[in-house]
Amino acid sequence: MELAHRDITYCKNVGAKRADILRSELGVCTAMDLLRQYPYKYIDRSRFYRIAELDDEDTYVQIVGEITEWHTIGIGKAQRLSATFFDGTHQCELVWFKGVQYVKLQRGVKYLLFGKPSRFNHIYNFVHPELTPWDKVTPEMTQGLEPYYNTTEKMKRIGLNSKALRSIIVEMLPEIKKGVPDTIGADVLQKYRLMSLTDALISVHFPKDTLSMQNARARFKFEELFFIQLQILRQMKRRELNPGFSMPIVGTRFHTLYKCLPFELTNAQKRVIHEIHDDLKSGKQMNRLLQGDVGSGKTLVALLCCLLAVDNGYQTCIMAPTEILANQHYETLKTFLKPLGDTVHVSLLTGSISAKNRIPIHNGLMNGTIHILIGTHALLEDAVQWKNLGLVIIDEQHRFGVAQRAKLWTKNQTPPHILVMTATPIPRTLAMTVYGDLQVSVIDELPPGRKPVQTIHYSLQRRAQVYSFVRKQIQDGRQVYVVYPLIKESEKMDLQDLQNGFNELCEAFPEYKISMVHGQMKAADKDLQMQRFASGETQILVATTVIEVGVNVPNASVMIIQNAERFGLSQLHQLRGRVGRGADQSFCILLTDNELTSDTRKRMDIMVATNDGFRIAEADLQLRGPGDLEGTMQSGTPFDLHIANLATDGQLLTLARQAAMEILEKDPLLEDEMNRIYKHRLDILRISQSYNWGEIS
Ligand code: ADP
Ligand code: MG
Repeated sequence: MELAHRDITYCKNVGAKRADILRSELGVCTAMDLLRQYPYKYIDRSRFYRIAELDDEDTYVQIVGEITEWHTIGIGKAQRLSATFFDGTHQCELVWFKGVQYVKLQRGVKYLLFGKPSRFNHIYNFVHPELTPWDKVTPEMTQGLEPYYNTTEKMKRIGLNSKALRSIIVEMLPEIKKGVPDTIGADVLQKYRLMSLTDALISVHFPKDTLSMQNARARFKFEELFFIQLQILRQMKRRELNPGFSMPIVGTRFHTLYKCLPFELTNAQKRVIHEIHDDLKSGKQMNRLLQGDVGSGKTLVALLCCLLAVDNGYQTCIMAPTEILANQHYETLKTFLKPLGDTVHVSLLTGSISAKNRIPIHNGLMNGTIHILIGTHALLEDAVQWKNLGLVIIDEQHRFGVAQRAKLWTKNQTPPHILVMTATPIPRTLAMTVYGDLQVSVIDELPPGRKPVQTIHYSLQRRAQVYSFVRKQIQDGRQVYVVYPLIKESEKMDLQDLQNGFNELCEAFPEYKISMVHGQMKAADKDLQMQRFASGETQILVATTVIEVGVNVPNASVMIIQNAERFGLSQLHQLRGRVGRGADQSFCILLTDNELTSDTRKRMDIMVATNDGFRIAEADLQLRGPGDLEGTMQSGTPFDLHIANLATDGQLLTLARQAAMEILEKDPLLEDEMNRIYKHRLDILRISQSYNWGEIS
C-alpha cells in the first residue's frame, strides 16, 4: 500500500502503543505523516574533531580518544562521575550527574566521544556525552549528517526518542525508493528547479551531503508556502468573481475637501487614493491593505475615501481599536469636514455611548442620514443596521481579535468594500501570508518638513538628567509623554508602577500639571485626562500603552518610555510615533535597566539607529520570529509553518506565490483535470485561513 495510506500502526518498529502516542502527540496517522516530520537539525558525523579545535559555541562534535582517569564524588542521588578524556594531545572533562551506576569506563580502550562541549575554567567539558567503544562503532554511525527529530515528553517516556523515530523511518527507505506520487506537478518542479518528492524525502531523512539536504528542505519549504499561497490566492480569485458596489463618481464633497486642505497631499497619498478609487469603480469588491508608517497620513486618506463613497450615495464606517482613538478620529474628521457644512454627517458610536443616545444613531444609519460612522467594535453589534453600507475601513487592524469579528452585513447582501489600515508597516513576507489575499497599497513617504525623532537610550540611573531635560522642554512650551508598560499577567504590579511613577513625577515637577490615563479607568475619565493634555492644560501625560495607537498631540515633543525592554519593537516604534508630529525637534528616550539581554540591546540599538518603520518591522521579524510578532499576532499566526520560516525564506515565498498565481490565472477555481492534485491536496491540508477580510463574519 502507498505510504500515504499505510496506517502507522503497521509500520515496522511501531505497534499499537507507539502508534497511539504518535497520533496524539504529533498527529501522525500514516507512514507519510511520519515522513513529513522533517528533522529539526543535523549533526555532521563524518567529521572528527581534535580537542584543540573546539570552539566555545560548538554544537555537537565527535572526538576519538581514551579515558585516562575518573572518580566519583558524593553518594546516592547526588553522585557525580567525572572523567578525563585524552585525544593524544589535549584533554577534556566528561561529567555524569544521572545514572552514574550505569556508566562503565575502561582504561586503555579507544572511544568515540559524542556530545556538546562547554567551557568552564579554561577546560572543555561534556555533560552526559555518548561514549562508544571504537570496536562497536558501525560505519553508519559516522556517515554523513545524522538527522534529529522533534519529540515530546510523552514520547520519550515510552522510548520514542529521535533515534527511535529514525529507526522507524529507516525501515521505510526501500518503499520510498520505489517512488512516491508527487504533490507538485512536474512542470512546476522543473520550472522552479525543485527536487521530486521521492528524492526530497530521501535527502531530507538520509542526506548524502549538506547540499542535497538543503535542496530537499528548500523543496519542502516551497511546497508548504505554495499550498498556503494557493489557498489564499484561490480565495482572492473566488472573491474577484463577486460583484461589488460601483462608485465611479468623484463628487463635490471629495473636491471641496481636497481644495480646502491646509497642505498638499504627498505623492504617495495621491497614488494610494488613485489605487483605491480604481477598485471602488471596478464593480468588484475591494479588499485592500493600506500600509504606511506612523504619521504618514493614513487618516486623511481614509477620510477622502469615505467621501468618494458618500459622493456615490453610500454610507461608510471606520472601525478603530480603542475608544480614545475612535474619539480622536471623530474630532479630527469633524475638523477636516467643517468646510463641507452639513453635506456630510459624521457620527460616533462606542461602548460608552448610552442606550438612549444610541437610538438616534441607529435610526440615522437605517434611514441613511448618517454618512460616516466612526466607532470601536461597538459597530459590529447586531443592533447596528445600515441603509446602504458601501465601504468599511478598519484602522490599526491588529487590535481586532478574531473573536471580535462579527457581522457587518448579512451573507446574501452585496459585501461592502474593505480597506484595512495597519498601524505600523508589516514585513513583506508576513504581509504576503497574513494579508496575502488583499491588494496592497503603500504610503512610502512622510509629509514634508518632518524632523526625524531623535532617539536616545539611557539606563534608569540617569533619571535626574532626563528630568532636567524634560523641564527644559516644558519651559520651551512643549509637552511630554511618560509611558509605562502594562502587561496583563502583572497588571496589579504594573498599575502600582504607574501610580508610583505618577507620584514621583508630581514631586519632581510641582510647578506643572500632570494627567494620567490607563486602561482600567472609565472611558469618561480617560477622555477627560486626554482632553486636558491635548488642550495643553497639562504638560505631562503619564500613561500605559493605551496611547500607543493613533493619538495625535502635535505639541508633545518628548516620549519617555519606562522599562523599554518590556516592549516589542513595533510597539516602541508606534509609541515613538506619538511625537514628531509638530514643527519642533522631538525626542524619544528609552529607559532600561543596566543589565540587558542581547536581544534587548539589539532592539534598543535598532530604535536608536532608524526611524524607518519598514526596517524596524523587518528587524522585529528577524529577532522574534513570525509567530510572536505583534499584529498578526495577538491571535497567533494564522498559518502553522512546519519547515518554512517567514523571517528567512522570503525568496522562496515569492517564488511559491508566483507559482500559485500562474496556476490560478489560468484556472482560478482549480477545476482543470491537470490541477486536480492541487485541489485534492488543499482538501487534505485544510489550511485554515482565519483572516478572511472579505467575509468578516
Ligand atoms: P497615521 O498614518 O499615523 O495615521 P495621521 O493620519 O495621524 O498618520 O497623520 C499624521 C499627521 O500628519 C496629522 O496631523 C495629519 O493631519 C498630518 N498630515 C497628513 N497628510 C499630510 C500632508 N500631506 N502634509 C502635511 N501634513 C499631513
Ligand atoms: Mg493613524
